[in-house]
Amino acid sequence: MQFQVRARDMIETQLRRRGIRDERVLEAMLRVPRHEFVPAELVTAAYDDRPLPIGEAETISQPYIVAAMTEAARVSPGDKALEVGTGSGYQAAILAYLGATVYTIERNPRLTVGARERLTRLGYLNVQVFSGDGSEGLPANAPYDVILVTAAAPSVSPVLLGQLADEARLVVPVGDLYHQDLLLLFKHGGEMATRFLDPCQFVPLIGKGGWPERSAGFD
Ligand code: SAH
Repeated sequence: MQFQVRARDMIETQLRRRGIRDERVLEAMLRVPRHEFVPAELVTAAYDDRPLPIGEAETISQPYIVAAMTEAARVSPGDKALEVGTGSGYQAAILAYLGATVYTIERNPRLTVGARERLTRLGYLNVQVFSGDGSEGLPANAPYDVILVTAAAPSVSPVLLGQLADEARLVVPVGDLYHQDLLLLFKHGGEMATRFLDPCQFVPLIGKGGWPERSAGFD
């Protein structure tokens, strides 16, 4: 129950106060147990206003950023959604809670296995976790109604744009390795419109449509 209290507090102080209005998104953020997606030693910090390390030098995004990306994506039940950068599986669980059919891809095999196990254990059956470089999307299941890229991209891959259905939404952090703009791209009648959402800081997207391996800066 203690986690419910923390989750409610997170909704009020971090999300509503900063302008998240979509009640379905707020409900998903309340119901998906974020403490199940962080390492055991960090459970007490699970609902804190910050990203947290999840091992393998990667992070679970700050709650506000997850909510902002999800709200911007306007997810409806039955939408086909692609997430690039599964990490802990938390963002995928939020999309699944909203009724999307979720395809999520992670390049780090250890994180892939961990997320797959966690999502199955918690009962998120409408999520499929793939292993590999998702920087150019996942063509096998395209087109998507929603694509969320949860790692920092140097630019928007045209290959990814090609996997959007008409009326689809793409949310992606674009910038350098240290600062990015969270962008919403909306496809309508074959044209793309772009809106700036927030400044943000993500770990790098590594791969063909992202940064070269050495950019991660850990070697
Ligand atoms: N959405 C996650 C957090 C993502 S952190 C969550 O809810 O927990 C970013 C993740 O993107 C990292 O796990 C990293 O390994 C992964 N990543 C980086 N480049 C990638 C690529 N080209 N394809 C797939 N995953 C990638």
